[in-house]
Amino acid sequence: MQVVSTELELRECLSSRRQAPIALVPTMGALHEGHLALIAKGRETAGEQGTLVVSIFVNPLQFDRKNDLEHYPRPLEQDLKNCEQAGVDVVFCPSSDNFYQPNHSVYVSENQLTKTLCGASRPGHFDGVCTVVLKLFNQVGCDYAIFGKKDYQQLKVIERMVRDLSHPVQLIPLDTIREDDGLALSSRNRRLSAEQRADAPRLYRALLAASHLATTGEQSVENYLNTARSFLEKAPLPEFKIDYLELLTATDLTAPSLVNQKVVLAVAAFYGEVRLIDNLEFDPTRAI
Ligand code: AMP
Repeated sequence: MQVVSTELELRECLSSRRQAPIALVPTMGALHEGHLALIAKGRETAGEQGTLVVSIFVNPLQFDRKNDLEHYPRPLEQDLKNCEQAGVDVVFCPSSDNFYQPNHSVYVSENQLTKTLCGASRPGHFDGVCTVVLKLFNQVGCDYAIFGKKDYQQLKVIERMVRDLSHPVQLIPLDTIREDDGLALSSRNRRLSAEQRADAPRLYRALLAASHLATTGEQSVENYLNTARSFLEKAPLPEFKIDYLELLTATDLTAPSLVNQKVVLAVAAFYGEVRLIDNLEFDPTRAI
C-alpha cells in the first residue's frame, strides 16, 4: 500500500496504473465498518488488476461549525492499518494546506437539491462537498467512486453534479451500515457520551416506526412526520435537539403533497455539539 499526501505524488503513483480500472472511496477518516463496506465494494469493483484509492481528508470547506471541524476525530495511524488490511492500494491523505491553493477561488454549487435538509441547515456545506469531490475525481481520474446512502442528500447532489457537468465517473451507492441497535455508524458517534450513545438509536427507531405506516397504505405526509416526531420527542435527554425532520421525494428531494411514490424520511439531531443524521427510503406503493 502506498500512502501519498500531495497531488504530484498521487499522479506519479497512479500513472502506471491507468490501464486497469481505478475506484475511489472518498472519506474524512476515522474509518468504521460503514467506510470498510465501501472500501470492500471498491476493491471488488476495481478487481484484482485495478487500483483502489481511499482518500482521507477532513475538508474544511464543508464545515459550517468551527467546533465540529476542530473536534472531528483524526486517528490516521489506525485508519492506515485498516486500509492496509482491507487491501487498499493507495491512500491519499493531503493536508488542507497542500490540498487547496492559498488563493483557491473556484467552487461548485448545486442549486436545487441543496435547498432542503442539510443544505438548508448547514449553509455552504454542499459547495464544500461538491468542490472537494470534483477535485478528488479530477486528481485521481477514477472510473468508479463509492458513496454511502447514509449521506443521502450528498449522494443525490453528487449524482446531479456528475450528470450536469458530464463527468465520466460511475457512482456506486451503498446502503447504510448500522450498529446492532440500529444506530447508523458515523465517525461522530465516538464523540457521544455513554448516555447519549445509549439514547441515539431513537433516530432510527423513529424512522422505522414511521416507515411501517407504509404497510397500511398511509399517504398523509403529516402522519408519517408525526409518528417519527413522537418517537424523537419521547423522553429525550435534555441536550437532545431535533435539527430537521423531513419527508421528501426520493427522486428530487421536493416535498410531496401525498406519500404515493418512493420517498425518503430524513432526520438530523444534536446531542449537545454532536450532530447526527439518518434517513430511510420507502415506497408505500410497494409496501402493501
Ligand atoms: P465521511 O467520512 O463521513 O465523509 O464518509 C465517507 C463515505 O462513507 C460517504 O460516502 C458516506 O456516506 C459513507 N458512510 C459513512 N457512514 C456510513 C454508514 N454508516 N454506512 C454506509 N456508508 C457510510
